[in-house]
Amino acid sequence: MKLLITVFSILTLIIIYSGIMHFTSTAPKTVLLSFDVELGDSPEQTMELLSTLKDFNISATFFILGKFAEKYPEIVQTIAENHEIACHSYSHPKFPFLSEDEKISEVRKCKSILENITGRPVVGFRAPYLLITGQTLKVLIAEGFDYDSSVIDNFPFMPKDNIEEIPVSSNFLVPLMDYNYFYVIRKPSSFFYHLTHARKNSVSVVDMHIHVIMTQSEDFNQSLNILRSGNAVFWTMSDYLEARA
Ligand SMILES: [Zn+2]
Repeated sequence: MKLLITVFSILTLIIIYSGIMHFTSTAPKTVLLSFDVELGDSPEQTMELLSTLKDFNISATFFILGKFAEKYPEIVQTIAENHEIACHSYSHPKFPFLSEDEKISEVRKCKSILENITGRPVVGFRAPYLLITGQTLKVLIAEGFDYDSSVIDNFPFMPKDNIEEIPVSSNFLVPLMDYNYFYVIRKPSSFFYHLTHARKNSVSVVDMHIHVIMTQSEDFNQSLNILRSGNAVFWTMSDYLEARA
């Protein structure tokens, strides 16, 4: 009986919370689109995405894997013409399992490859799988990064240090990442719903992958249309930090 009452209470709270979210959710006004660029991303799909973003006059942040940049330096140069280039490590390891020297080598190598290609400083980092620890944050500070975007918004027990954090937005603690909605929950429509709706006054930070989002490019285009007609403002992560300062 006690268990039933507990389950009933939790369900009631979830329903009330969903109701509040429904009535307080609105078109996001500040949107930070980001893409984690990996070896599974093809130059063709990347160019298609860049053309879509250009049509909407949107600048985004691309967290690029060092190995991708080594393979397609000219694509990285093209991305850099209108977007921010940031680091997604050299080879996509799970950072918590690396030694300190391995962590340093992964971020240093990636940063230097990207900076050599673009001729500009790379100051942002996103950990593969959003797996971040305090030790990695310390490495980022020592290696000259300005911000990290690997923490999940509203998630308890995320590490903190003396580095700017741009947390990935979440709903019921599920990060607003295309991969989760497309392949884990298997509800891409929910991803597009959350992309076009946000909690009141919140900044929407979206984590996408080119080879995932371009499988539903029409829905993505439609979402950008909705955001644009709702007067959303799109920032790169660095421009957002500068404007916030
Ligand atoms: Zn990744």
